[in-house]
Amino acid sequence: MTRIRLVATGGTIASRRTGGGHRAIATGAELLRDVAVPDGCEVGVVDAATVGSFAWQWSDLLALVRHLGTAFSEGADGVVVTHGTDTMEEVAFLASLVHDDPRPVVFTGAQRALDHPGADGPANLTDALLVAVDPAARDRGVLVCFDGRAYPARGVTKVDTLGTRGFNAPGRGVALRVAGGRVRPLTPAARPMTVPIDTSVEALPRVDVVPLYVGADPVLLRAAVDAGARGLVLAAFGAGNANPALVDAVRECDLLVLVCSRVPSGPVTPLYTGGGGADLAEAGAVFGDDLSPWQGRMLLAAALAAAPDDPRPLLARWLGV
Ligand code: ASP
Repeated sequence: MTRIRLVATGGTIASRRTGGGHRAIATGAELLRDVAVPDGCEVGVVDAATVGSFAWQWSDLLALVRHLGTAFSEGADGVVVTHGTDTMEEVAFLASLVHDDPRPVVFTGAQRALDHPGADGPANLTDALLVAVDPAARDRGVLVCFDGRAYPARGVTKVDTLGTRGFNAPGRGVALRVAGGRVRPLTPAARPMTVPIDTSVEALPRVDVVPLYVGADPVLLRAAVDAGARGLVLAAFGAGNANPALVDAVRECDLLVLVCSRVPSGPVTPLYTGGGGADLAEAGAVFGDDLSPWQGRMLLAAALAAAPDDPRPLLARWLGV
């Protein structure tokens, strides 16, 4: 018998229409009623939360991560997390930074509510269970399973606000496919590097994302510093460019700054002067490879938590630079 723990958290997959708008109200047990549980699989359910993922706070995220640890220490062979799609790429990635075990964690969700005539949640949950019990899902860290495809948490992103093919991993791709009730690996298994953080805390260190846009001035960066940020992520132009005023603000701010890109795929690299990436590197910023700003924020927060005095070596190891 394969033991799977379903950790339900809310999201559209658990939502119904109410007077005030869609609301996450269904429990994990209710979600399970609409799906085919794979043969030889026993599913235990925990309701970690019943909320829209846009409302998550640090304490909720860390509680969810602790639920994953509990499931494995209690003998689960795999975990499926039902989750809102809006922040799934951040939360699944945080979980992947912590999940140090060959057994799979599979996030899934839906774009259409439970009471929608074409609800996609039941099919996605059915697929996620198939993935979680399949040996091909082992040693891959945390996966996001949506519309018949499973992606490693690193690099996955929501690509459509409402369409049922809501996720993709631009520049990286699909790890496993689910078709005809079978799971097929498309890439070799590889366990991502984890970051040793204490998950019993209420929050990780504050890291803010500062967006670059034409004519951006340093006001938002300075506001983040004033608000107590311990690290900053730039959602930079192109391959990691800013502008002269932002470069000066990075140099002056005395915080660890991670450069990521507004562009959905491809790595950042220090190329240009005149306010570009070469100047950011000279000002002390670290380049975040192809991590999105949202996933970069999670990595930087985890690195600051794990190595508060000097997170740079850990970041460099993780990023392979
Ligand atoms: N639209 C979201 C979802 O698909 C809402 C949320 O993230 O909870 O679940």
